[in-house]
Amino acid sequence: MQVVFLGTSSSMPTISRNTSCIALRLDGTIYMFDCGEGVQRQLHRTPFRQKSIDSIFITHMHGDHIFGLPGLLCMIGMTASPSKRPIEIFGPEGLRQWIRTTLKLCHAQIPIKYVVHELVLQEWVFMLLDCYRHEDDKYVVVAGLLKHTIPCWGYVVQERPHAGRFNVERAMEAGVRPGPMYAMLQQGRDVTLRDGTVVKSADVVGPQRQGRKVVILGDTSDSRSLLVAARGADVVVHEATVTEHEADFAVDRGHSTASMAGRFAHSINANTLVLTHFSGKLEGAYYGTSDNGTIKDLITAASKSFGKNSVIAAHDLTAVTICRKEDPAFPAHRTTSSFST
Ligand SMILES: [Zn+2]
Repeated sequence: MQVVFLGTSSSMPTISRNTSCIALRLDGTIYMFDCGEGVQRQLHRTPFRQKSIDSIFITHMHGDHIFGLPGLLCMIGMTASPSKRPIEIFGPEGLRQWIRTTLKLCHAQIPIKYVVHELVLQEWVFMLLDCYRHEDDKYVVVAGLLKHTIPCWGYVVQERPHAGRFNVERAMEAGVRPGPMYAMLQQGRDVTLRDGTVVKSADVVGPQRQGRKVVILGDTSDSRSLLVAARGADVVVHEATVTEHEADFAVDRGHSTASMAGRFAHSINANTLVLTHFSGKLEGAYYGTSDNGTIKDLITAASKSFGKNSVIAAHDLTAVTICRKEDPAFPAHRTTSSFST
């Protein structure tokens, strides 16, 4: 499970940052979260194959989060087989009409099917997105309404628990031979050997392993609707548009400062916080040439309110690999920018 940032700028692209777009790499498939303009080119800078994109989750209808979507659909259409399963697109009301109108007026021919699921606006409601499941039922996605200037959704992706570890030595000691009985035991079923001995699954299979959880929020000044669903997240991706000097501006515009992001990460007891969606004003600041604060300031402020130092400020093409609990590297998550050209 890997979160790859394809765009980390708010509002408009800068010379080094694209507008909002995140790819969540799962086993063999990719979920996209927002599709800012330039997403196609950013994908070329990764090893991802466009046809691996199964599902697209849109947080809200502001242009910096969706202007790349029609082009991305055309790109997938040109590279995927027409027999590809329909792409599932989730997002706010109006998304379906916008996609269809744009593609129709541009006379875009897309030889693949797509389905748009609009999330209906209800106050503080949790919606379980039962509409899409990974082929092997590995993931559940929950959407929660965030506070922004227009309806905006945040998403929690929860990996289902894994089966416990199968202890081959113990199974052999118990007299089970490799074959179908191994599979039955792994599935939690007890088996009876030829001599009538019953071998219990629980005796040869360890306890279930907890799945990983990643939270990807859209633009927000208040994400409390996801407090429960996001609890214990391995990684939370939170916007930090401006520095603390502009806290009032941030809240007025439905955005967050880094310390607000840190507070949310603290309140859900997250493991790692990744900041993104930076104002272009910080771009100069990043190189120490602006009075608007620096991205370093954002990390400091977020770490303070989070109460942990595991805060990352994403660059374009930053990749955060989310370890399983049994991984020796846990609780740290590996961060690379190895996709950079
Ligand atoms: Zn917005």
